[in-house]
Amino acid sequence: MNKYVYNFAEGNKSMKKTLGGKGANLAEMTNIGLSVPAGFTITTEACNQYFKDDNAINSAIRSQIDEAVSQLELQVEKSFGGSPCLLVSVRSGSVISMPGMMDTILNLGLNDENVKDLGERTGSMRFSLDCYRRFIQMYSNVVLEIPMYHFESILVDTKERDGLQSDQELSVDHLHAIIQEYKRLVLRETGRQFEQSPKEQMYAAIEAVFRSWNNERAKIYRRINSISDKLGTAVNVQMMVFGNLSDASGTGVLFTRNPSTGENVLYGEYLMNAQGEDVVAGIRTPKPIQSLQEQNPAVYDELVDSAQLLENHYSDMQDIEFTIENGKFYLLQTRNGKRSAAAAVKIAVDFVNAGIIKKVDAIKNFDANQIDQLLHPEFDKEKLAAAKELTIGLPASPGAATGQLFFDAKSAEKAREEGKQVILVRMETSPEDISGMISSNGVLTARGGMTSHAAVVARGMGKCCISGCIDLEIEEENRIMRIGDLELKEGDFISLDGRTGKVYLGQMETTSSSISEDFIQLMAWSDEFSKLTIMANADTPFDASRAKGFGAKGIGLCRTEHMFFEGNRITDMREMIMADTEKGRKIALEKLYPYQKDDFKAIFKIMETYPVNIRLLDPPLHEFLPKGKEEIQEMAKALGMAFEQIEKVVEDLHEVNPMMGLRGCRLGLTYPEIYEMQTKAIINAALEAKREEGFVPTPEIMIPLVGNELELAKLRTLVERLVAELDPDQELGHVKIGTMIEVPRACVVADKIAEYADYFSFGTNDLTQMTMGFSRDDAGVFIRRYREKGILDYDPFQKLDQEGVGALMRMAIEKGKQGNASLKIGICGEQAGDTESLRFINTLGLDYASCSPFRIPKARFAAGQAGA
Ligand code: ADP
Ligand code: MG
Ligand code: MG
Repeated sequence: MNKYVYNFAEGNKSMKKTLGGKGANLAEMTNIGLSVPAGFTITTEACNQYFKDDNAINSAIRSQIDEAVSQLELQVEKSFGGSPCLLVSVRSGSVISMPGMMDTILNLGLNDENVKDLGERTGSMRFSLDCYRRFIQMYSNVVLEIPMYHFESILVDTKERDGLQSDQELSVDHLHAIIQEYKRLVLRETGRQFEQSPKEQMYAAIEAVFRSWNNERAKIYRRINSISDKLGTAVNVQMMVFGNLSDASGTGVLFTRNPSTGENVLYGEYLMNAQGEDVVAGIRTPKPIQSLQEQNPAVYDELVDSAQLLENHYSDMQDIEFTIENGKFYLLQTRNGKRSAAAAVKIAVDFVNAGIIKKVDAIKNFDANQIDQLLHPEFDKEKLAAAKELTIGLPASPGAATGQLFFDAKSAEKAREEGKQVILVRMETSPEDISGMISSNGVLTARGGMTSHAAVVARGMGKCCISGCIDLEIEEENRIMRIGDLELKEGDFISLDGRTGKVYLGQMETTSSSISEDFIQLMAWSDEFSKLTIMANADTPFDASRAKGFGAKGIGLCRTEHMFFEGNRITDMREMIMADTEKGRKIALEKLYPYQKDDFKAIFKIMETYPVNIRLLDPPLHEFLPKGKEEIQEMAKALGMAFEQIEKVVEDLHEVNPMMGLRGCRLGLTYPEIYEMQTKAIINAALEAKREEGFVPTPEIMIPLVGNELELAKLRTLVERLVAELDPDQELGHVKIGTMIEVPRACVVADKIAEYADYFSFGTNDLTQMTMGFSRDDAGVFIRRYREKGILDYDPFQKLDQEGVGALMRMAIEKGKQGNASLKIGICGEQAGDTESLRFINTLGLDYASCSPFRIPKARFAAGQAGA
């Protein structure tokens, strides 16, 4: 018989798939002897069975639940519906933690009768009524789906009527009255009395948790995070312990390390005389966990010990929920804590240094996508000092964000679609705000602490967030907010500094962030495992030095065409194109030569002895010519030529399908003088750099778009001859000459091509375009459609098409090595910056991968991870 229900004592942490994350960890904590209130878990399988049985709990599951309840009653010596009364929480818990996505009901089991009994036994009728009041509210909201604001307004009205500030001031009489009103509300909304049978309450709650698996916000969360809809949720039924019983009781949440910075200090908040999520709800301001040391040293010690024990046990930073009942400490949840990228790095390095985890595991378990977040923007220090500071909140998630104010998720989304930079401002966020958070550069909330929904979700997204900014007065319906006398309306610009929690008026430029020692350490460890060298696609000295800063071991692709667009160069380039004789072209090329040589020299100096792979001119010449009448006129003036003359050349060079026109090596074969000039610039630049700096640069010369070995053979001869002439004493050693592999035919005849190539570089942008027959510049529209129709589940220009393009690559590698055993092979397409594609590239056994500078750290890390 299927086992659908597990007592906490029966499970363990490896059973997440069955018990959900929360259930598995409650079981684990129980079994390692920590103080966890007793309870049981109904499995995810039971949830899926419930859906299969058309939203009904079948008799097999029901009898196992009943049995578990009886066992629990014996275990804790309380009784459901009897005295002393057993109260439980009914808690959801999916396999992958989905914070705030599912609903939890506390104090279940109370009714009109036993609420008195509970009051008498605990000596506090106030407490007992407070529990009942909370229970009716949560149950009615989650199970009966009565909107929360109905209850809130009853509560608020009562307090206002008697001028009370907080819930704690409510007297027994107030609570009695509130409960009566709540029950009337339930009767009015549902036509039925509030459920009095604890068992019925429990079953209704279990079903509600099952059903909540399919509520909208849960579905959205799963979609965003690519979590399968099929997993289902487990349900935990657990004896209540009471943080609201007395002033010696309380509840709190805690990270074992600082989740923003990774610093090794307990990081959390708690509230005395409070229950459940009072801490994160932002209604009362919680206290930092360290104050508990004064308030209750014994409990604090136990908390510190438990935190340490859990962190060691799980070998990871933990996010813990706890409750104190009359001075006794209970753990209610633990899980691996979410953290900012910076914290993730520090924690990984600290754990390795402390011997808690091994290097290889630190690398393997690190989320490579977080590497990107480390390159997060920050505000320029000087600009920051000069900016008008409006107020300060809690620095909930690091980074810097600037943009226009929007007060709800919908407007934020819309503004983003219109291309605006968005800052989402909310009283506090809830799961319904997630799409708005995704659309914004940063999030600002008036309420909530460092562990509020906004804080947790923003940190996960790597997005800047300031929470608990209590000076903010927000009028959502009027779309304004006030800070003191200052009123800001929708669309006004503000800036958030997530490191300090400060809010500034207006727009502020951001700069890229600095990189920590720990980051450098982690990257160095990952490099140890890497079999792929990571190089950069960099066309300018600026990009080259940035790439080197990010750890590029050379340049895998230097495109020369961009150099022709700067300043006056385009005029000389155009003169070259307009020349109708070889002699005329050579004169114009002579003018371009010094620019090219100086750029290359600067790049060689930066890259020192690392290889710099320069691709000779690739794009069709008309890309350098003017487009409209006006531009032609300007050019005519600049070159002192007739309008018609230029117009004619523009027409002559027009191509119907330029991507397959006169470009790449075809251009070099048509106008060899262009490639000659470029080769001369490369070699002389390298020689000059060598003489000026003393080291030997490593230029490599790459011929684009080869599909036939004779194209390469001829151009290789040309380049080799020039190199021999310019560097007769081989000061530069052997200058490698290679080719791009970007035409499918090149893959098929790679053995022949390899005879003339020192290296191959897969140009997977063109190779994808030509293999799939998808025009790079037009594919956006139909790729989106293909994804919607499920024909493709990714964009092949972002993620390598392993099945098609990958197969051609395999063929080219195998044949290439047959043709030239010492062939070096790399890739320089955009896909090289994608983690999954890099993993694949790693399996192909390539020597290097080259990508744009900002993607280098992630690529380096992913390469290390693939090798670890
Ligand atoms: P979530 O997944 O949204 O965090 P939980 O199931 O963890 O929901 O419940 C939220 C909070 O409710 C817990 O952090 C804890 O404070 C409180 N809670 C849940 N179960 C109990 C219990 N048995 N006794 C006391 N408090 C509980
Ligand atoms: Mg919750
Ligand atoms: Mg929880």
